[in-house]
Amino acid sequence: MKRTNRRFVLARRPAGYPVEEDFRLEEVPVPEVRHREVVVETTHLSVDPYMRGRIAGTASYAAAIEIGGLMGGGAVGRVVASQHPAFAEGDMVTGNLGWQEVAVTDGGALRKGDPMIAPISTALGILGMPGMTAYFGLLEVGRPQPGDTVVVSAAAGAVGSAVGQIAKIMGCRVVGSAGSDEKVRHVVDELGFDAAINYRTESDYHARLRWLCPNGIDVYFDNVGGNMTDAVFHLLNLRARVVVCGQISQYNLEKPELGPRLLGQLIGKRARVEGFIVSDFSQHYERAVTRMAEWIRTGALKYREDVVEGFAQTPAAFISMLKGDNIGKRIVKV
Ligand code: NAP
Repeated sequence: MKRTNRRFVLARRPAGYPVEEDFRLEEVPVPEVRHREVVVETTHLSVDPYMRGRIAGTASYAAAIEIGGLMGGGAVGRVVASQHPAFAEGDMVTGNLGWQEVAVTDGGALRKGDPMIAPISTALGILGMPGMTAYFGLLEVGRPQPGDTVVVSAAAGAVGSAVGQIAKIMGCRVVGSAGSDEKVRHVVDELGFDAAINYRTESDYHARLRWLCPNGIDVYFDNVGGNMTDAVFHLLNLRARVVVCGQISQYNLEKPELGPRLLGQLIGKRARVEGFIVSDFSQHYERAVTRMAEWIRTGALKYREDVVEGFAQTPAAFISMLKGDNIGKRIVKV
């Protein structure tokens, strides 16, 4: 068992896009394990967009990380010592363990992984928080019906790629937007989306979406906000549902973007715009994991992990994910 832990703490609050100097690598002794605690050596760490909100120092749906505080986040790892009756040495577990190599944590906050269902790293992606976000956001908030047109932004990412595929399983026409031609090809050719646009090279989102969605848009799963969302609003159908999942185009701006004011579009369309947080559905995760695992088994739902090797690369992996370098779920292999 390791006696020293390496961990990343927040060194200062970022201005605009984070840089590596905003994080500091520390070496600290591993504390003694106490009653009901478990020592976990992490094998995979998650880097996610919501972490940008946690280090911003402004109000966000996720709790703020203080300067000098451990960078929080989901992780999976192997139990190397346990004083908790539910866990034994060698168990693979997942929990909110943060950006560190060794976590000494309350066993009550851990879940055992089931490598029989899928590789353990999927607990950070398709069968973890991002997969649950796609499942509940689309099915419970977006409520797609067969034949509906569903548009999803950040379509090649962890959440978006699952949203589009679940919408296809529900019998919808699916159009995605993403930031490169490679991503567009991935979601259409490999994931089965009906169409996708590269928002970085497309000059007129509205015209292109109108062309790709000739029957209008019934569900918009919004991961990005900004100009893409403005273009979608003009094409919403009667009783359309807009699922406000994320606004990543705004997370790294130093001044909030002021866009056209389009709420008037919602009146005649009787459309519903609803924000949601995945944890609101935590009571129901088990049901969703069972259903998604079955879709994975039958090949109806595919997933891709975008793995960066090496614990020391964690801040860089996070920053480049925010800039769009990832296809699928960005994970760090410790
Ligand atoms: P992800 O999509 O795997 O990675 C983030 C992606 O955002 C990047 O790959 C990039 O792809 C895109 N992006 C970055 N800057 C952008 C910009 N200016 N405009 C448009 N797209 C941009 O991340 P994820 O974990 O699946 O999260 C996707 C969204 O869901 C995020 O907004 C996140 O905050 C949100 N989320 C919400 C909840 C909830 O409970 N509400 C839970 C999980 C995630 P491109 O190359 O396509 O730009």
